Amino acid sequence: RLKVEHLTRAFGGTPVVDDVSLDVAAGQVACLLGPSGCGKSTTLRMIAGVERPDRGRIAFDGQPVSDERLFQPPEARSVGLMFQDFALFPHLTVAQNVAFGLRSGRDERDRRVAELLERVNLVGYGTKHPHQLSGGEQQRVALARALAPRPRVMLMDEPFSGLDNRLRDGIRDTTLEILKEEGAAVLLVTHEPDEALRMADEILLMRAGRIVQRGSPYNIYNAPADRAAAAFFSDIN
Ligand code: ATP
Ligand code: MG
Repeated sequence: RLKVEHLTRAFGGTPVVDDVSLDVAAGQVACLLGPSGCGKSTTLRMIAGVERPDRGRIAFDGQPVSDERLFQPPEARSVGLMFQDFALFPHLTVAQNVAFGLRSGRDERDRRVAELLERVNLVGYGTKHPHQLSGGEQQRVALARALAPRPRVMLMDEPFSGLDNRLRDGIRDTTLEILKEEGAAVLLVTHEPDEALRMADEILLMRAGRIVQRGSPYNIYNAPADRAAAAFFSDIN
């Protein structure tokens, strides 16, 4: 479970994330949805531990990872990351990429890698290198790598933006299925309403650093809080 309270961050006197609170249960997917520049990535980066909050608290499964006194670095948090520019290691094989964050013994590690390659439908790809894979296949390896250490919290920042439209829906569905099986609390950032509607259990609509509406995809789509929220959904069918 991910719990964030009153998270706040300013750059040069301008608040970019302004009193953001959210709560994501294990096995649930929350989507942070909003226009470019509204503070989505900055929010995610603070939860990951690569950006320091000015104020607020972050806890994983009830244990604080960031508050007034404490700031754990990313490697000390049980967090999986999938960012748009977070590429695979080109010199490592697929299996080595997936095993990268695993600290367990060899047998346990090999078992986990095999299990994940099966789950992302890449059995037989373990000894290939990333450049031998399509964009969609690379994306699935990145997912397997992020999930391998069984993170409590999974953070995804526009993870499908580099894929062409034809592939995207299929990969969204597979990804969602795997995330549900693995059971982490997932926070997914997107500026695409259709992605949020397709993947989220809860949508958090963000604008100018603040969460302006939250609810199920059904509720947000059918009862947007204001004209700006409605306009945001109006270009999809
Ligand atoms: P996008 O959808 O385009 O990715 P976003 O919602 O993820 O946008 P952020 O990357 O969180 O937006 O940025 C929010 C604002 O904070 C932007 O105006 C950005 O220029 C500013 N900002 C982000 N990081 C820094 C930084 N390190 N120093 C100064 N300003 C920053
Ligand atoms: Mg961003």
